[in-house]
Amino acid sequence: MLTLDAASAQMLASVRAITGVEELPTGAAGGRVLARPVRAQVDVPPLDNAQMDGYAVRCADLAQVPAVLPVRLRVAAGQAPGILPAGAAARIFTGAAIPSGCDAVVMQEAALEHGDRVEIREVPRPGQWIRRHGSDIACGALALDAGQALRAQHLGIAASVGAAHLTVVRRPRVALFCTGDELATPGDVPLPGQIYNSNRYMLSGLLQALGCDVQDLGIVPDRLDATQRALEQAATGADAIVSSGGVSVGEEDHVKAALASMGELHLWQIAMKPGKPLAFGRVGAVPFIGLPGNPVASLVAFVMLVRPYLLRAMGVEQVHARAAFMRADFERAADPVRREFLRVRVNDAGGLDAYASQNSALLSSVSWADGLADVPAGTAVQRGQPIRFLALGELTGPP
Ligand code: AMP
Ligand code: MG
Repeated sequence: MLTLDAASAQMLASVRAITGVEELPTGAAGGRVLARPVRAQVDVPPLDNAQMDGYAVRCADLAQVPAVLPVRLRVAAGQAPGILPAGAAARIFTGAAIPSGCDAVVMQEAALEHGDRVEIREVPRPGQWIRRHGSDIACGALALDAGQALRAQHLGIAASVGAAHLTVVRRPRVALFCTGDELATPGDVPLPGQIYNSNRYMLSGLLQALGCDVQDLGIVPDRLDATQRALEQAATGADAIVSSGGVSVGEEDHVKAALASMGELHLWQIAMKPGKPLAFGRVGAVPFIGLPGNPVASLVAFVMLVRPYLLRAMGVEQVHARAAFMRADFERAADPVRREFLRVRVNDAGGLDAYASQNSALLSSVSWADGLADVPAGTAVQRGQPIRFLALGELTGPP
């Protein structure tokens, strides 16, 4: 059996980067990956400005307090700053430009206004309550690098430096099909012996969340010719092919034979649970990843192997999910050879509970769970012990 890390490394080593790009308005680039770096065209903030409502002053006038100064200027946010004469104060509001000559802001709680004069009751520190121009990002500095997955906060940064458009990696085109004579589509009446095709909706949702264009080829019956036809169709124009089912070693599993005749295939047994059987190969030049049919196995193999693969193809450097260590509020015997991904949920005491059955066919477990506990092979989980927790929200979300 192959370790998950070895399988992942082998897959990532074969990634072909997607080179196509698209230029989008900044507001429409969320969930995509930046293809070109964004440099600041301005200082952020662009001007020295007040961090508090109060009075802009010259420290030299305030060696002794309390001191009474005439209020000679009034500057609100968005107004031109003006010049403050010596021996005076400027009424100023948060975000307003600091008048030239001032070197500190005294917050209004430390001042008392009497008509057109103000009594200052503290000795200001030079620079206090002033946000300096360029103190967040300096003009010319790198605001966002290529390969950055764009969440809302990154769009905010891009906008703060004046970027109206962003160049992003084009969407990966992924062909998807589900194998199995037993599969029925929701909306149809299932024949005796049939089950609904849940993987189609789950996998296509996972791919879409990653920003992929999904070419959904539907259900492929358990026959060699049908599997070959699906692979041929999938290989035209796709950056990758993902399938579910048919990769075990049963006689109804035709993916291996179909690929053997059309490209190249490794049928891996990965030392992970769930998600042991995985097919990895290519049809012509198009990479192919065959996920197991059991729904939870399909999901776990997707988030641990397909997601990192597609992220890397989009130019993302950090493709593996970050783990947090959390306390196990359950016990579980060791699996001697396979690394286990247990469906767990964060409880009110800040620990982790495990779903009662960890059977890989039960999709209820992932619907219930907040995440996966990543337990090394040969390791029992003891109550109270810290274990690696991978949040499903991150694993199933945007890049
Ligand atoms: P397979 O990997 O094809 O041997 O399938 C393993 C198990 O997963 C079987 O019980 C299948 O019925 C089930 N299964 C396979 N494909 C799907 C699917 N698309 N949706 C739901 N269950 C599936
Ligand atoms: Mg099958």
